[in-house]
Amino acid sequence: MGKSNKTCPLCGRIMKCQFNGLQHCKCGISWIRDEGFFERTPDMIFCLKRVKKGKGPHTKQVPEIRYRSRELSAESSPEKKHKKSTETE
Ligand SMILES: [Zn+2]
Repeated sequence: MGKSNKTCPLCGRIMKCQFNGLQHCKCGISWIRDEGFFERTPDMIFCLKRVKKGKGPHTKQVPEIRYRSRELSAESSPEKKHKKSTETE
């Protein structure tokens, strides 16, 4: 931690880092890498998603925004059934 935290464009406070690449401000503004600043809504859920990084066994975690209402309909996705494969870190 203690990385370069963003400054909120709305109120000027230092934003709090939740995950690498995801920061929040108390006033309701958040920042996500690659997309920039956005306003949080109550149905947003923030989680980490593992993505493969290049070739080889390395994965990195990237923040992902999910929405409660949409999450329900995505529940039937067969991908969710995947068991966690053995991961070495
Ligand atoms: Zn703010």
